[in-house]
Amino acid sequence: MKEQIRALRGTKDLLLKEARLWTTLEAKARAVFNAFGYEEIRVPIIEESSLFVRSLGEGTDIVDKQMFTFIDRGKRSITLRPEATASVVRAYLENNLINEMGFAKLFYMGPMFRAERPQAGRMRQFHQMGVEAIGSYSPYLDAEVIALIAAVLDSIGVAGYSIKINSLGCPSDKKKLAEALRKAVINNLDKLCDDCKVRYEKNALRILDCKNDTCKKILRDAFRGTGECLCPDCLSHFETVKKALDGLKINYIVDPYLVRGLDYYTKTTFEVTHKKLGAQDAIGAGGRYDNLIEELGGQAKGACGFAIGMERTVMALAEIPELSDGIKVFFATMGEEEYKIAFNMAMELRVQGISCELDYEGKSLKAQMRAADRLGAKYAAIIGGDELKNRSVTLRNMSTKEQKTVPERDFISEMERIFFNI
Ligand SMILES: [Zn+2]
Ligand SMILES: [Zn+2]
Repeated sequence: MKEQIRALRGTKDLLLKEARLWTTLEAKARAVFNAFGYEEIRVPIIEESSLFVRSLGEGTDIVDKQMFTFIDRGKRSITLRPEATASVVRAYLENNLINEMGFAKLFYMGPMFRAERPQAGRMRQFHQMGVEAIGSYSPYLDAEVIALIAAVLDSIGVAGYSIKINSLGCPSDKKKLAEALRKAVINNLDKLCDDCKVRYEKNALRILDCKNDTCKKILRDAFRGTGECLCPDCLSHFETVKKALDGLKINYIVDPYLVRGLDYYTKTTFEVTHKKLGAQDAIGAGGRYDNLIEELGGQAKGACGFAIGMERTVMALAEIPELSDGIKVFFATMGEEEYKIAFNMAMELRVQGISCELDYEGKSLKAQMRAADRLGAKYAAIIGGDELKNRSVTLRNMSTKEQKTVPERDFISEMERIFFNI
């Protein structure tokens, strides 16, 4: 036998039950997104690398270390998307939604790619669903987006998560913040981890993201949080967001050290964590990004959004929700004449939307009944020698084990009566 080819490290097949679970979760999320007025957008998986370099910013881990970038045959630098916000904003501008819709609420679901060391909840191909609301500076939008992430997690069945929020302020506040951070660590520069030494030079805000205990302590001893760098406008924006959340009875914690490492975030930023997940405890995160639209060539517009990590969300589920049903009917047969009758009946039912299955491997009747069980069939339709002779079908209810004989010519209408109530 030839050697088998395996899936790449950091990628994973979603099979059967797991795929059904994901479909169920996605359907629940879609319903919530729609209720909040979001429409789906499907953007490409590959983009020009410059889209991500320009939007996420140099000096971020994603751009510096984690992008899957390659040169294509036309000598262009192409990147597998590490996240979707930049693509959604590009699409919003390129397709002129700015004029068509003005304010736009868009949601997406799909795979993202980052070259990270694979570990629990961290894959190289991972999956996110998220929203982008583009075209408003209103603090009520920030509160609504935070309420939406909570509503999605609630409907999916994630319990016991916590929401942390903070404000980074406008671009000039962020400059003040970077200076304050540099000042806070300057006397202890040699004690910082290697990453933070680079961050000090390139992107001081990211020092706040460091998980290293020494870095954390140095920073917290000398820096009281982002609040002291906010201008009056940004302070009042943040106040309104908090009051709106209070009004909605959304539980949140203000974490003055919370920043999002990406360049495009301004003002409100938030993160949802779950203790079930250990060190990598974020299920989702987001915030406002008032500069990105301009940065990508549009006119300045406020925007806000979030992304939820699917793998992490599945790990944090309180319980596995009820999945969509198994098949309705399994035809178990003996002999070719019997099989032909079942084959035609199965096709007729399938076309009507009644799911059914039969044997393709010449299995014994016993093995066919086991297959019916495994597929979660509601009924087994048995056609053996006696049934063939009497032009009938034995219909077995798989949960009650009751059996009855149905004339062959009435079988389809009997199934319609059972499954469609007609
Ligand atoms: Zn400000
Ligand atoms: Zn550090």
